[in-house]
Amino acid sequence: MPDIFLTPEELAFRGEFRDFVSRVIEPLGLPEKMEQEEMDFPTQEVRALGQAGYFGMCLPPEYGGQSRGLVYETIKSEELAYLAPALSCPGCMTGWVGNAIIQHGTDQQKEKYCGPIARGELVAAVAMTEPAAGSDVNGYKTRAIKDNGDYVVSGEKRFQVGGLGADFFITFVVTDPDLPPLKGGLSALLIDRDMGVEVVEKYRMMGYHGTGVSHLIMKGARVPTKNLLGAEGQGMAVLDTILCWERLSTAAGQLGNARRCLDEALKYSLEREAYGVPISRLPSVNNIIADMVMKRDMAAMMILRGCRLVDRYGSRAMKEVAEAKYVGTEMGFEVADMAIQVFGGIGYTDKYPVESFFRIARLGRIASGTSEVMQYIVQRDVYKEALGRKEPVYDS
Ligand SMILES: Cc1cc2nc3c(=O)[nH]c(=O)nc-3n(C[C@H](O)[C@H](O)[C@H](O)COP(=O)(O)OP(=O)(O)OC[C@H]3O[C@@H](n4cnc5c(N)ncnc54)[C@H](O)[C@@H]3O)c2cc1C
Repeated sequence: MPDIFLTPEELAFRGEFRDFVSRVIEPLGLPEKMEQEEMDFPTQEVRALGQAGYFGMCLPPEYGGQSRGLVYETIKSEELAYLAPALSCPGCMTGWVGNAIIQHGTDQQKEKYCGPIARGELVAAVAMTEPAAGSDVNGYKTRAIKDNGDYVVSGEKRFQVGGLGADFFITFVVTDPDLPPLKGGLSALLIDRDMGVEVVEKYRMMGYHGTGVSHLIMKGARVPTKNLLGAEGQGMAVLDTILCWERLSTAAGQLGNARRCLDEALKYSLEREAYGVPISRLPSVNNIIADMVMKRDMAAMMILRGCRLVDRYGSRAMKEVAEAKYVGTEMGFEVADMAIQVFGGIGYTDKYPVESFFRIARLGRIASGTSEVMQYIVQRDVYKEALGRKEPVYDS
């Protein structure tokens, strides 16, 4: 059936981007090179995306973009994930950061970062999580102290996708230890790699290989105060802007992963025979395929709803973002698992891509906020509404 939920322009972009991925990215040897860890970070592929304008497409025209919305960003994530799920996050992250700079930055910061982002000259990473605190933002310890026109930053951040390949990091730091982060203690800094960011470890992971996930340390890194993004103490607002884009893109990546798993399972079910017939003629296999399709379609609609709300209402749509992130990433994992079931034993080996897609899908339920944190956000906002407390109002 035709896709009635996307505009003609969005559909045209999807066609154009699919073509770009198959002409330019696929011949570079993904996903095998990432999966075999032949690369620390997909630098060539990420730079190719940037140079073709896909980092800056959501930025305003004065910075080289086309003011495209979050739907475009998630189409990009989904299409990259269909080819190589582990590419989708590093291939999209710079766009999320560019959007946050546009929303919260000074003109000088927009000049310094957004023009080069749109031209594909800069790659960004997001440094939120710390060894002692991931979900719990109140536990962040990385400290920034003002000194002679600079912030002096000391602390550790772990699990940065692109920690090995990024040029700069949007980094969340404590500027006022007497205030909780949610109440003005947290700020966002744009920290260039050469300002004193040291990579102390590259993680070996279950999947998601080749994405340069690192452990960073800053020991007295000097960051000019002009690199403060948003007002001091307003780090949570910047973080929410990033998280809306990141969560929906993560869910869309799982959609691409699921679409590919479904295609692989369909193909295999038509080729594999049991009891003298293709397994596509077995009702139990048909039921698995039907479930895969319905779960995929349900998630796609929720992700699209989330994108349209964020484009219109920004991070006031965090509850709907959390719903889409939860449904999208739980779906991604279930559908990858179902694909392996259709393949039977050979699906558990590395002879077919579903095995690596399954390991990558496992991450969706953890990164960008765990499924439990998404459940927490949804019920919190529903109770707030039920109790008549202030709740996001969609008023236009
Ligand atoms: C491969 C990979 C890539 C990543 N990329 C990035 C990145 O680019 N940048 C970045 O900053 N971070 C990144 N992360 C970090 C990721 O976002 C965190 O791992 C995630 O938010 C969970 O934090 P945690 O690992 O500290 O787990 P914890 O917060 O310690 O959680 C442990 C358990 O407690 C549960 N829990 C915690 N708090 C709550 C709550 N309030 N309600 C209900 N349950 C709760 C969790 O759901 C989980 O089950 C990445 C992680 C991985 C593995």
